[in-house]
Amino acid sequence: MTQPIKNLDEQGWVANAAVREELLDASNATIEEAVELADPMVLRGLIYQLTGDPQIAATTIVMGSSTGFTGGMEPTPEAEALIRRKAAEFLKSYRDRGAGELGIGPMDRLPQSMTLTMGKDIEPDSYDLWLEELALNPWSRGLEWSREPSERVRDFSVTIIGAGMGGLNAAIQLKRAGIPFSVIEKNEGVGGTWHENRYPGARVDTPSRLYTHVFSADYSYPYSFCPWTENQKYFDWVADTFDVRGDITFKTEVRSLVWDEADSMWDITVDGPDGVRTLRSNAVITAVGFLNRPDLPDIPGVERFNGPSWHTARWPAEFDPTGKRVAVIGTGCTGYQMVPELALEAEHVTVFQRTPQWLFPVPGYRSPIPPQVTWLDRNLPYHTNFMRLRVAGGFSAGFGPIAQIDPDFHDEHAVSEINKGARDNCIAFLKEKLGDDEDLIETMTPEHPVLSARPVIVDSEYSFLDTIQRDNVTLVVDGIRGITEAGVETENGEVHEVDAIVYATGFKATEYLFPMSITGRDGMTVEKLWSETGAQGYVGAMIPGCPNLWTLYGPNSNGGLLVPAFQEMETYYALKCIERLVLDDKRSIDVKDDAYRQYNEMIDERNQNMAWSDPRARNYYWTKFGRSATQNPLTPLEMWNFLREPNFAHLDVR
Ligand SMILES: Cc1cc2nc3c(=O)[nH]c(=O)nc-3n(C[C@H](O)[C@H](O)[C@H](O)COP(=O)(O)OP(=O)(O)OC[C@H]3O[C@@H](n4cnc5c(N)ncnc54)[C@H](O)[C@@H]3O)c2cc1C
Repeated sequence: MTQPIKNLDEQGWVANAAVREELLDASNATIEEAVELADPMVLRGLIYQLTGDPQIAATTIVMGSSTGFTGGMEPTPEAEALIRRKAAEFLKSYRDRGAGELGIGPMDRLPQSMTLTMGKDIEPDSYDLWLEELALNPWSRGLEWSREPSERVRDFSVTIIGAGMGGLNAAIQLKRAGIPFSVIEKNEGVGGTWHENRYPGARVDTPSRLYTHVFSADYSYPYSFCPWTENQKYFDWVADTFDVRGDITFKTEVRSLVWDEADSMWDITVDGPDGVRTLRSNAVITAVGFLNRPDLPDIPGVERFNGPSWHTARWPAEFDPTGKRVAVIGTGCTGYQMVPELALEAEHVTVFQRTPQWLFPVPGYRSPIPPQVTWLDRNLPYHTNFMRLRVAGGFSAGFGPIAQIDPDFHDEHAVSEINKGARDNCIAFLKEKLGDDEDLIETMTPEHPVLSARPVIVDSEYSFLDTIQRDNVTLVVDGIRGITEAGVETENGEVHEVDAIVYATGFKATEYLFPMSITGRDGMTVEKLWSETGAQGYVGAMIPGCPNLWTLYGPNSNGGLLVPAFQEMETYYALKCIERLVLDDKRSIDVKDDAYRQYNEMIDERNQNMAWSDPRARNYYWTKFGRSATQNPLTPLEMWNFLREPNFAHLDVR
């Protein structure tokens, strides 16, 4: 397996890149230009960490005006000038010293350096979480055996289902821990979400600096929010660099799992090029995603349409929108991402909107990272780490508090003072874009409170709001009556004639593990278990009656931690359980019913305090059973604490 990018030596973490040749060749002007575009808060913490310069530590910060995900604190202009000057001096002297290996500096300085970058104190109990996010130790979310495993580990086998972000992480961590495994993947390649979602404009809406695994935090993404092409490149790079592609069986779908109590094994029925066959393993990790099964709407006449039609997750590579009239049905995140790009190519786009969503403008959302900043990623040691910390800190501070309901706050449109502030900002953006078109502003103003549904991130320069004012775009808000041979018919009888129809209608988000059939201990089926509650899990990772089975991105794991961190921690949790089985020579581990029930009661109670529980909310988080199967209302620290060490009192180990 490829070596980690950084190693621990006696002084601390050391960037073990060979000599930075690019920096050796850099002129003073190149260095100064790059430093000028750097995030000053990142330089503040990083250069302090590398030099211990007290003048940097003493710099003053104030609440800034910047929007986006990096938090609000900024150095004063004088402080900023000093920080940039010191950073340029540091880089020049590092270059002149040969630009070789460089230690991170004293570990006991790190808390202050991290605080300097984040612009806020780090609570002692969350320091380890932030240290993981800083990713100096690429394997901080990997298993370190507490004692040498017995020979038994060689006979222990794990099947991972899915080779997206979660499945790849599980594969790499199992490989590193020396636990035999194989991966079953229904597609012909890795990447999951990004293998399937290739519509124009498909890109992440969480910062790419956080959309990596901790072991590859140095990966050089060219955008702050990457398009699908770059995400796909990352996952291909991960599969090859960490050498797990050969462990994946592609074009093979898992149909069912049946637990064999006598042998403590899962029988796994798969369907692939060799037909249907059954595999066996001691444990299963499902990494099947939660937005993987397209949800097509039940609109009368879909089959009557004369032209092509498809779900956004099935975008045909050969489709050329030039000269075509295209209908887009649905305006969730996908519709809002796709329409602006489609409108640049298609002859005409007709968008059918049932519910508007709150749009959050982010400057530079569609733009590449300036080359000077990616130059710093390569040439300023630990720049990627401190950038990651900065973005993580800003992001975690951003949305969580806005989603909390304040029971003493009463407003027609908002759930708290800060929630109302966020609404006001969104409305200001609508007005800025739509000017004095009161009707359009009203059409685009959601009734539900901000964050009661998934927020939509858009580029502040060019977004859906600009697009709907183009001559070649029509926004239709009348209900859809049906699909005809020629196009889409609305309730008022008008037929919108088009050449192609795209369904941007989302996924079967609440139908976890769909459509696999899972039969656990004593013949219990997951279908039956969830028949009166909808999907539930324990810490997002376990289901009672399903021993030795862990779910990544399982029920109620949307929120709490960001997806990559959540999946890494769930995998870590699974590995700790497997460690217990192997070291104690046990056969099975299962969550106790009480722990499962209590965990879900706690989640449900806490969810009641969140904006998505507001009666005005319209979202895909809820099931017909009156609970959210998807949302996690905990803070990152709370969720991380659940996963960093299994509470074995909650588990039945046999
Ligand atoms: C359009 C879109 C944009 C998104 N943007 C973001 C974002 O900006 N930030 C963010 O954090 N998240 C985002 N998400 C959520 C995204 O799904 C996760 O970030 C992440 O990709 C999930 O990884 P995963 O491995 O859990 O699931 P997936 O990426 O969905 O991968 C699941 C894999 O399992 C395979 N599989 C499923 N069932 C079976 C089976 N029975 N047998 C064999 N293989 C199976 C699938 O083929 C797939 O390869 C987005 C999702 C979508 C759809």
